[in-house]
Amino acid sequence: MNDALGHQIGDELLRGIAKRLRFVLREQDTLARVGGDEFAIVLPNLPYLEKAHQIAQRLIEAVKPPINIEGHSLTVGLSVGIAMAESSEDSPDHLLRCADMALYEAKRNGRNRYEVFRVEMDEAARKRRDIELDLREAITGKQLRLYYQPITDSAHNEIIGYEALMRWNHPVNGLIMPMDFIPIAEETGLIHSIGAFALHEACREAASWVGQQTIAVNLSPVQFKNSALLSVIEAALTESGLAPHRLEVEITESVLLDSNHSNVATLEKLKALGVRIALDDFGTGYSSLSYLRSFPFDKIKIDKSFINDMQDSREALAIIRAITGMSRSLDIQTTAEGVETDEQFRRLKEEGCSLFQGYYFGRPQPSESRLTGFTPVDASLHFT
Ligand code: C2E
Ligand code: MG
Ligand code: MG
Repeated sequence: MNDALGHQIGDELLRGIAKRLRFVLREQDTLARVGGDEFAIVLPNLPYLEKAHQIAQRLIEAVKPPINIEGHSLTVGLSVGIAMAESSEDSPDHLLRCADMALYEAKRNGRNRYEVFRVEMDEAARKRRDIELDLREAITGKQLRLYYQPITDSAHNEIIGYEALMRWNHPVNGLIMPMDFIPIAEETGLIHSIGAFALHEACREAASWVGQQTIAVNLSPVQFKNSALLSVIEAALTESGLAPHRLEVEITESVLLDSNHSNVATLEKLKALGVRIALDDFGTGYSSLSYLRSFPFDKIKIDKSFINDMQDSREALAIIRAITGMSRSLDIQTTAEGVETDEQFRRLKEEGCSLFQGYYFGRPQPSESRLTGFTPVDASLHFT
């Protein structure tokens, strides 16, 4: 926010929000700013917990309408974490910590929500901390590996590239999937070193392959906050000797949403290097077809939830059609993710998807045992 519009507008915005929050509160309540965009509110003498819910909801509603500052119409969201002091022994420190854990949960569940602290959250926070500590060791201890999943064209007799997907081989807990550690890496900033590892490793391994297949590496939106991203990618290409056009980075639309123009500028520089840019998980979240015009993407990956639902849901099929239609007219390739059956593959070809990825063609595997040719298996025969 401050980066995009300057400190002055940022400060004005905070003042405007504080005023709205104050308006919802009673005389005896305390409002304090405790961090960049974080406020703490103390509500003494609440008759019952429901009252805290109501106030949280009112705070959220109060912040919702756009604020006008110097000609900019700014919209912000509010997430609220609530902790109740059960007895006079509850220290302010402990209460704040509990409220913070509830806030974390609220943010995780989407924008404009509130959550009340529950003891399970404490347990979950402890687990996150353990993972964080172990993850630091994983990086130095070579416990992280990339697996490669094949991507094919519609003729389906050739693997044109692979997506690199990270796996964590934990010495005690075994194989851990990205969903269970990438978000923690993002929160703790460890994603910068993990992401750099993925780029270097994927380029190095792909350069050793016999064919000229492309290699797609996922980039977290957090990695864009680090100005070194571009030089990390350049270094990965130079050190491996991989031709830039063989590297593809997959980003999600939140990279564009947060943007500020510096993210788009980074993407443009990458493109100038010859690296290809794919928009991942398209159709989920804040998706809007207008994103497709905001940057000249080389590829759109249709989120696997639509592929999964297309047989039973007319909406899913309609969205797939809208994406392929728009991509065709903009001359962008479309990859269907999560193709599991022959039937899905056939239908998606009819809809005009250009590339395909999913268990039907092959699962992610380490570089040395990755799939290099096809004998497709209908995944539905195995999993139903
Ligand atoms: P993604 O980039 O959308 O990757 C596709 C996910 O779908 C992978 O999950 C893949 O294993 C899974 N998949 C592929 N084919 C099928 C199928 O036919 N059916 C089903 N049900 N799933 C299929 P995975 O490997 O668990 O990765 C999950 C997510 O974690 C990725 O989603 C990506 O967002 C993130 N991720 C993985 N590796 C990295 C990484 O190195 N860096 C970053 N920043 N994120 C990563
Ligand atoms: Mg991906
Ligand atoms: Mg995806």
